[in-house]
Amino acid sequence: MSIRTLIAGNWKMNGTPEFGVTLAKELTQNFTCDKVDMLICPSFTSLIPVADTLKDGCVKLGAQNVHAEASGAHTGEISAEMLKACGCEYVITGHSERRAAGETDDQVAAKTCAALEGGLTPILCIGENAKMQPAEAQEVLEKQLRASMKNIAVTEGSQVVIAYEPVWAIGTGLVPTIDDLKEAFTFLRQLVIKTYGEEVGSKIRLLYGGSLNAENAADILAVTDINGGLIGGASLKAPSFLAIAEVASQYAERKA
Ligand code: PEP
Repeated sequence: MSIRTLIAGNWKMNGTPEFGVTLAKELTQNFTCDKVDMLICPSFTSLIPVADTLKDGCVKLGAQNVHAEASGAHTGEISAEMLKACGCEYVITGHSERRAAGETDDQVAAKTCAALEGGLTPILCIGENAKMQPAEAQEVLEKQLRASMKNIAVTEGSQVVIAYEPVWAIGTGLVPTIDDLKEAFTFLRQLVIKTYGEEVGSKIRLLYGGSLNAENAADILAVTDINGGLIGGASLKAPSFLAIAEVASQYAERKA
């Protein structure tokens, strides 16, 4: 079964609306989504102008965080409905930088459900903090995945995108070996199949994140169970992000 590849950019806390519009324009003018999907996740303040820039193209818009409640006394927070109204189709949940700031599995689970209820596709991030043996890392991944998806019904399972991001690889220039990635993604695929059944589990998009760039994209995106990437640093410049998407397009064809 072929799964549509997703190349997602997490801009983190970088760039003014003006920066976002310029970058979004470069992407939308130079990318056609015939083989893979492209997504950008700017900061909240850039969402509306970036949505306007993307409106005639195929590049999709996402946010980096969402509140678990639909509305109410939550100063400084943003709901799924608000994101949707800004043009978002996706939202990142459970990013390690938010987990490091105190977000728990329970909160990630609630946010992931809120995203689905609000009509957004959550990109749920999981990953071990330090380099460890594959079996140990798998234990961490299973625990995080089960806890973060505990309220998600089988019928909604395939709508969740899972991003495996070893925390030690984020922003460090370090990446797991290809053998370790193959083992991790085979494990994740089996885990989602075990949890959601063959039909749903085999459709869930599994992304890799952590120092993915134009140079290592070919090796990483060739791994069978990797259905795209969540990209931080290399998504902040159009040439590197477009180059990764181009590599992804070539592998999408081969994997189809
Ligand atoms: C991320 O923050 O999700 C990420 C993968 O960052 P980077 O690509 O910079 O390692």
